Amino acid sequence: MAAAIRRLRPSSFSFSFVTRSFSTAAAPETVKPHLYSQKPISPGVDPKNRNVQWVFLGCPGVGKGTYASRLSTLLGVPHIATGDLVREELNSGSAFSKQLAEIVNQGRLVSDEIIINLLSKRLEAGEGKGESGFILDGFPRTVRQAGILDEVTDIDLVVNLKLPEKVLIEKCLGRRICNECGKNFNVASIDVMGENGSPRISMAPLLPPSHCVSKLITRADDTEEVVKERLRIYNDKSQPVEDFYRSQGKLLEFDLPGGIPESWPKLLEVLNLDEQDEKQSVAA
Ligand SMILES: [Zn+2]
Repeated sequence: MAAAIRRLRPSSFSFSFVTRSFSTAAAPETVKPHLYSQKPISPGVDPKNRNVQWVFLGCPGVGKGTYASRLSTLLGVPHIATGDLVREELNSGSAFSKQLAEIVNQGRLVSDEIIINLLSKRLEAGEGKGESGFILDGFPRTVRQAGILDEVTDIDLVVNLKLPEKVLIEKCLGRRICNECGKNFNVASIDVMGENGSPRISMAPLLPPSHCVSKLITRADDTEEVVKERLRIYNDKSQPVEDFYRSQGKLLEFDLPGGIPESWPKLLEVLNLDEQDEKQSVAA
């Protein structure tokens, strides 16, 4: 499985396999959280001898989870979404899950320490099962988290998925859920001119089958006002994280050219990956 991937060629974009780089300038004073392991995951392992360790960034609605999940399947690495880690811990019935439930139920923010603990635990468990590499989704959210992450593992590459704000808003406003079967659809037919001379962006709607049409509902928080606010909050927090990784030479900016059919092949191209590789090796 993992043998199927073609290794990332650093020459294809400005990016280097930095093993560990502490950026004290960018990281604020941090209280070192207790970690499940004080030793780094995959300490000092040459990145050529292990699987990819990537982070996916992108604002809400950009489709980050979809691309991260597809790539993890292609590369044979786990797709680790911090939202899932929190949900799994809540359902685990562990002693800690009760504390966590209290925090979540009170609407309080799950702290960096808790998130990094869950993540360390997940990475260690994976390593124990022989997993190698990962694609992180939803983490790090802050520079502080990025700094802590640097202390426990080596990130090879950070992919920042981007869409113009007007596309994100249209996309979010087009979301519909079937009241009966729970499936997600999107009625927005997007066709906007790119910004700063970039090509036009088109996304076909994902229309429901006829039996769902009359049962479509819109999520209460998918209003233009809420979506804009969500993006504003995201951008405020993510800018410093992007700068953090940019200064390390690990940030790959990727402007999505459209929906999945347009974006997926382009994404594979910039990552120097080929879906054919996997198919061929399976057939061999
Ligand atoms: Zn339905």
